Amino acid sequence: GGGGLLAYSDSKPPEGLNAIAASEYKNKKRVVVLGTGWAGTSFLKNLKNPSYDVQVISPRNYFAFTPLLPSVTCGTVEARSIVEPIRRIVKKKNVGIHFTEAECISIDPVNKKVYCQFSQDTNSDGKKEFSVDYDYLVIGVGARANTFNIPGVVENAHFLKEVEDAQRIRRSVIDCFERANLPTLSDEERRRILHFVIVGGGPTGVEFAAELHDYVNEDLMNLYPDVKKLVKITLLEATDHILNMFDKRITAFAEEKFKREGIDVKTGSAVVKVSDKEISTKAIKSGETSSMPYGMVVWSTGIGTRPLIMDFMQKISQTNRRVLATDEWLRVEGCDNIYALGDCATINQRKVMEDIAAIFKKADKDESGTLTVKEMQDAIDDVVERYPQVELYLKNNQMESIVDLLMHAKGDKTMESIELNIEEFKSALSKVDSQMKNLPATAQVAAQQGSYLADCFNRMEEAERNPEGPIRFRGEGRHRFRPFRYKHFGQFAPLGGEQTAAQLPGDWVSIGHSSQWLWYSVYASKQVSWRTRALVVSDWMRRFVYGRDSSG
Ligand code: FAD
Ligand code: MG
Ligand code: MG
Ligand code: MG
Ligand code: MG
Repeated sequence: GGGGLLAYSDSKPPEGLNAIAASEYKNKKRVVVLGTGWAGTSFLKNLKNPSYDVQVISPRNYFAFTPLLPSVTCGTVEARSIVEPIRRIVKKKNVGIHFTEAECISIDPVNKKVYCQFSQDTNSDGKKEFSVDYDYLVIGVGARANTFNIPGVVENAHFLKEVEDAQRIRRSVIDCFERANLPTLSDEERRRILHFVIVGGGPTGVEFAAELHDYVNEDLMNLYPDVKKLVKITLLEATDHILNMFDKRITAFAEEKFKREGIDVKTGSAVVKVSDKEISTKAIKSGETSSMPYGMVVWSTGIGTRPLIMDFMQKISQTNRRVLATDEWLRVEGCDNIYALGDCATINQRKVMEDIAAIFKKADKDESGTLTVKEMQDAIDDVVERYPQVELYLKNNQMESIVDLLMHAKGDKTMESIELNIEEFKSALSKVDSQMKNLPATAQVAAQQGSYLADCFNRMEEAERNPEGPIRFRGEGRHRFRPFRYKHFGQFAPLGGEQTAAQLPGDWVSIGHSSQWLWYSVYASKQVSWRTRALVVSDWMRRFVYGRDSSG
């Protein structure tokens, strides 16, 4: 057996192996995984097939539970409670997984190599770069914070993306309160220092604003009684509403709640510049610009593509895109054996109308030039699987199956007598593509993609032994891989004061204290380990009893 071999990571077999063991070793396919975030970690956790030699490369040797980052900014939860060392996560597996703390700086898809740089100083020979060969490359490097190149953002604003960001924000909030308490300042200056500005009314910006408001009111007010009247929180959003990816009821509730609490929500105002003491905005409707003094800015306006990925896209001629494109099997378009998942990539979902002739031809088994209901029923599973928008369209139009749609197109004929020619088939399906949307950049999507891809890798050999089956989708063969399909379990928007808005599938909306408890239980259950779960829960209890810490 080759069990003991799993510890080796060199491509040359270790000396002293017998011939069988050595050949087994050489047969191991090298999988290189870039990133230890939601996507990469989920892939590693679900990989079970011991026939791979896996190299994980990431500048962070831990996984971070990002949904609790806003809680770290105000000390509701400690930073160490939401991180888990990646070595601990992969240790127990019988798959050979090796971790190197380094950043990938370049991908060479032609020679199947990645070039990397150590984050640490290597003092022996000072050499910091190295390369790694791969048979399969799994890219899960996530995204960077987006500044839209607005001047002064990088220099003066805080991002809220990494654990370090959350820790810096926490110190900075306390610093502002201490500075505002210095005896020599004018009230105007104190007011400036205690003006907290959040840019971006998405879930992260809103949650941070709510956390900060609670922190100030529940904890800091008592400790800094002299300056409490001078604190102000402003939330800037360029569109007409905050939380606009949520149900209207949630948006309205949040806007109402913030208004009541004195959080100044300024919608329709876009930031044009951030200097060291002032932030300038432009009203979208009137075009008027104005500036306001601030003490601290938190920037949370969405994500952009990392330079590594931009450079890679140039090499593989994905130059007309802003985000790396994969097909529905998460394979990078234009490459062999490279997969990308999570925030660094997007699935280039195919349109039904692009493939309509091929779909028709394949369904028309008797090549009669028309489709009968029987022919359509036989073909439909594949179509629904490949084009998720079909299912969505049927659901939104209260149709049971695609046969309804086709009968609809044919008027009131009975089912048996329906036959559609290509033009009729086209017009019946002409509206389904309107239901296509890109998947959101969320942990939920990244984690599902990671476990989907691991499952494909777990079954890859089976697929290769049976070439008519999987790998490529052919619409036939029992073992083929299904394309990735996202399952939405709902979304939370914590709004402060122990109230959370929850939007669950089927437009089920719930706002208030009960959803806060749902939030606590879901986020506790989603922790990667019992250790972090225990830490997070005890942080929450500590906060209930003693309040948040305010030493900075
Ligand atoms: P990431 O998790 O960002 O991981 C990327 C990994 O790649 C990291 O380990 C990074 O160190 C590594 N890396 C970066 N560059 C390189 C390189 N050059 N070479 C090698 N490795 C590299 N989603 C939800 O579903 N629900 C939420 O409540 C939620 N809340 C959030 C709150 C905040 C504050 C933030 C920032 C995000 C939140 N998200 C939430 C979004 C979620 O965190 C992301 O969608 C998710 O992290 C994407 O996973 P990923 O693996 O693609 O990227
Ligand atoms: Mg990742
Ligand atoms: Mg992450
Ligand atoms: Mg994505
Ligand atoms: Mg026919």
